[in-house]
Amino acid sequence: MQMLQDAGIPVLLKNDFIQGAIGEIPAVDNDIEVWLVDDEWRSRADALLAQWEADRDVHGYAWVCTECGEDNEAEFGVCWSCQASRP
Ligand SMILES: [Zn+2]
Repeated sequence: MQMLQDAGIPVLLKNDFIQGAIGEIPAVDNDIEVWLVDDEWRSRADALLAQWEADRDVHGYAWVCTECGEDNEAEFGVCWSCQASRP
């Protein structure tokens, strides 16, 4: 997880070897497990990951309906619950 490493947090990527096998597929799509080297980094890493997930939501993954507040998967163009258009 380059983001964590950039923040100075030492991590191990359990599935790191997969990256060489899948070519250009972004690492975030392959459920790479991040293992913190030292548990003292946990809260910092959690905060970064929460931020990362928030950013990801903004960029077209899962979304929340503005009409009814239901969570929708990325592939839905309209809300599964109330059929409101994706914002
Ligand atoms: Zn809705």
